[in-house]
Amino acid sequence: MPLSMDTLVSLCKRRGFIFQSSEIYGGTGSCWDYGPLGVELKNNIKRVWWRDFVQGRADMVGLDASILMHAAVWKASGHVDHFTDPMVDCRECRRRFRADTVDETPWVHYCAATKGNKFTIPAGEPCSHCGLRRTLCPDCGKGELTLPRQFNLMFRTFMGPVEEAAAVTYLRPETAQGIFVNFDNVLQSTRRKLPFGVAQIGKAFRNEITPGNFIFRTREFEQMEIEYFVNPRDSVAGRPADEHWHERWIEDCLGWFQRYGLQAENLRLREHEKAELAHYAKRTADIEYRFPIGWSELMGIANRTDFDLKQHAKWSGKTLTYFDEERKEHVVPYVIEPSAGVDRALLAFLVDAYREEEVRGETRVVLRLHPELAPIKIAVLPLLKKREEIVRTCHAIRDELAPRWPAAYDDTAAIGRLYRRQDEVGTPFCVTVDVQTVGDSDKGEAGDGQATIRDRDSMQQIRVPIGALTPVFARLLGGEPWGSVADRFGAPRPAASG
Ligand code: ATP
Repeated sequence: MPLSMDTLVSLCKRRGFIFQSSEIYGGTGSCWDYGPLGVELKNNIKRVWWRDFVQGRADMVGLDASILMHAAVWKASGHVDHFTDPMVDCRECRRRFRADTVDETPWVHYCAATKGNKFTIPAGEPCSHCGLRRTLCPDCGKGELTLPRQFNLMFRTFMGPVEEAAAVTYLRPETAQGIFVNFDNVLQSTRRKLPFGVAQIGKAFRNEITPGNFIFRTREFEQMEIEYFVNPRDSVAGRPADEHWHERWIEDCLGWFQRYGLQAENLRLREHEKAELAHYAKRTADIEYRFPIGWSELMGIANRTDFDLKQHAKWSGKTLTYFDEERKEHVVPYVIEPSAGVDRALLAFLVDAYREEEVRGETRVVLRLHPELAPIKIAVLPLLKKREEIVRTCHAIRDELAPRWPAAYDDTAAIGRLYRRQDEVGTPFCVTVDVQTVGDSDKGEAGDGQATIRDRDSMQQIRVPIGALTPVFARLLGGEPWGSVADRFGAPRPAASG
């Protein structure tokens, strides 16, 4: 059965990934808080993204610009005048909707052609009796919808203690502009040659008309954005450099999502039609993911041309060009912008990792998260919590592993239950300590000093000397497949207790 958003929301709450913001006050519909496991997962996504796209590449540098910027930035970028969505209101219940998506849900219709009978009409279709399209509110089904009006999505605020027009500024609706206004600072301080890119991860705010679908569309979210500057006069492999690099970034981004677990069949590319393109864009392609709500945008990769740098040069009066040594001329670079939402990426990783498997007649819920993303890498579990020696050994193992890998200790249930709990939050490996490990001093039996490692995905187990745990986990969490590591320690055994 396909995963429903409700199932995921409930898992996220139960296990401490994501909570509704201000829940004890009734909650805010459009904001979410990341709990103990959620913050780890989110940090891991940002960390691997930064490592792969910034630290690992010679042509990239990073930046962390402030959220509040000079108000003129948003004039120059076009956000004050154009960052709008068409909005319609219900005249009856006063709810507001995005005019372009109002037809995306089934609608309730009291049909005059059938004496006012009530019908639920499928999304996007007219009534088969009277031919009417939706003119009524998707929520209450009674009120007429107003004609669309443009609504600016930026949050307005005031800088300083005086709330007057001169102090108006905005919470940034994207991180990109912080990079454009720092273009010359980065260029001068790093002496970069084109092509090069600047990356930034940070919060963005949009007063969305209809937020929803859990963390898919919220009013406060995080972005991971890159502005990749190229010389429009250059060509690479017979193509203009901007077109070449646009293609490369699309491939790199698709490859990145697959490397960390999204299955190819759940990803697709959608080219923006000419009419849909932003006025500054030469080409935009969205990477879409098959979310429980259907195929929807995961990230966008746009060719923004030289629009932003030219606009900021015009409004600030500063020169924002690059000196092309070869041609002895100043050029305004073109910009390729891969722009991803951290929260949407996190949602996609959770959806793709979620599995319900049948194990000995019982259902096990498992998050097959990539080990780099998993919030906890290793859980150390005692087989008997009443045996002091076992518990002490577990704590010693956890303390040994924790400086290198997030490691947890849990003794609040029987072992089968403890495994299930770790499966459900995606912990790739569990270590258990039993009587065999520590021996039985009452009977004068010495322990073998070995602990059991259990693999989340295969549920196989191997026994490893305690002293070898750190090098073994260095291999396992360094990317070596379970099978090849397990072979060194004799044939892996199927789990005795799941
Ligand atoms: P949409 O069409 O879904 O509103 P967009 O095309 O306006 O998105 P961009 O401006 O291209 O989005 O922003 C880049 C990325 O930032 C998106 O692909 C998405 O991952 C993320 N993002 C944008 N708006 C939101 C939001 N309200 N909540 C969560 N993530 C968002």
